[in-house]
Amino acid sequence: MPQPLPDSVQSVFEEVIRRNPGETEFHQAVREVLESLGPVIAKHPQYTDGEIIRRLCEPERQIIFRVPWTDDAGRVQLNRGFRVEFNSALGPFKGGLRFHPSVYLGIVKFLGFEQIFKNSLTGLPIGGGKGGSDFDPKGRSDAEIMRFSQSFMTELYRHIGEYTDVPAGDIGVGTREIGYMFGQYKRITNRYESGVLTGKGLTWGGSRVRTEATGYGAVFFVDEMLRATGDSFEGKRVVVSGSGNVAIYAIEKIHQLGGTVVACSDSNGYIVDEQGIDLDLLKEIKNGHRGRVADYAAARGAHVAYVEGGSIWDVPCDVALPCATQNELPEDAARALVRNGCTIVAEGANMPTTPTAIRVLREAGVRFAPGKAANAGGVATSALEMQQNASRDSWSFEHTEERLQTIMRQIHDRCLTTADEYGAPGDYVAGANIAGFTRVADAMLALGLI
Ligand code: NDP
Repeated sequence: MPQPLPDSVQSVFEEVIRRNPGETEFHQAVREVLESLGPVIAKHPQYTDGEIIRRLCEPERQIIFRVPWTDDAGRVQLNRGFRVEFNSALGPFKGGLRFHPSVYLGIVKFLGFEQIFKNSLTGLPIGGGKGGSDFDPKGRSDAEIMRFSQSFMTELYRHIGEYTDVPAGDIGVGTREIGYMFGQYKRITNRYESGVLTGKGLTWGGSRVRTEATGYGAVFFVDEMLRATGDSFEGKRVVVSGSGNVAIYAIEKIHQLGGTVVACSDSNGYIVDEQGIDLDLLKEIKNGHRGRVADYAAARGAHVAYVEGGSIWDVPCDVALPCATQNELPEDAARALVRNGCTIVAEGANMPTTPTAIRVLREAGVRFAPGKAANAGGVATSALEMQQNASRDSWSFEHTEERLQTIMRQIHDRCLTTADEYGAPGDYVAGANIAGFTRVADAMLALGLI
């Protein structure tokens, strides 16, 4: 059973469902924020008077376009491209592009909506947006990826710009894809506009630490949660789902801080390595030849278990970091984590934990950090990339990582302070939603009827 919504936002939610039929992930993301806003509305009637919440749920602009391209056999292929420019009260629209067959408008809108509050929470001048395509990069050659990325940008270029909308990577979009898109943007516009995309390569305008930022940032956030109770990563047993960009760098930082990651996964299955995941091997398999976690088990030896299908959350751990995809941690997985003594769950991915799973965790006293706080390090470092591009500068790894760590500490503290202020001590969900909301809502009020 979902939690009841505050009366003042019930009609807003009903309107969201009516106006966006079938977009279940978007409904879920909106509901999750609205559930937190009761105390804010009670304290600040100006937000209801100005219909801020209703306006926040409606994107400023939604773009859907055709992406034709040819495969290696010369056959014409067709995909659909999206960019949802959700809110620019705090700065240019900012958020990644996802290439995955599951992408449709409801996924892009859920991600774009989350992005508004996440970006606000960083304290940096960035609005919220998201985009992508239902293109499936799996099994495609490098030349096919390039032709698709170029075709995608041939339409997208007219909607973006360093002061307008600044996309980045997400699932299925890494430095390679950003490179092909940046090259096409440069060709079409005849501008070397570094600040139009983030996640660029280091030799052509990228920032150090951007690749590592989401995973490292999530771990810095958990480190702050542990410190808040006088604890640390030292000796902790950790499970990280996924084995993509976020998961790999989360594993790296956990190992640097003294924890041991014993399991990770892909969409086919998961591996358990009681000696701790050998990250060099995993990186070689994933980044070197885009392999599977099953290849890791085969390469590392008999002590590694590979479980095809199944739930990675059955593996006992102290800390769990879902870093794969939305709704990957359902209610029964939450119950397994509780049963096995897990004390912290922090979302490296966007909305990986279902609402009922979150309730199970919280009722059991498991401390839970939502993605819009815990995985904000990626977009924060993208904003640092924009700063470096604007000043034609390039910072050292150490300096950039220090900035990231400071930002994650500030986000953590902002969540706790806000949760305290609104009568929900220790509640990271309420803290993140309310702190993210109030900053963007105040900007919207100040800018007139936008
Ligand atoms: P990648 O494409 O690099 O990796 C995704 C990983 O998740 C892959 O290993 C994929 O396996 C795995 N996966 C997908 N579906 C499942 C599933 N159902 N069960 C288990 N594993 C699965 O994406 P990212 O690491 O960049 O993104 C992961 C999450 O983090 C997403 O929710 C994204 O929105 C979020 N995020 C990413 C940011 C970034 O900077 N990259 C920033 C903030 C949030 P397979 O290869 O089999 O598909």
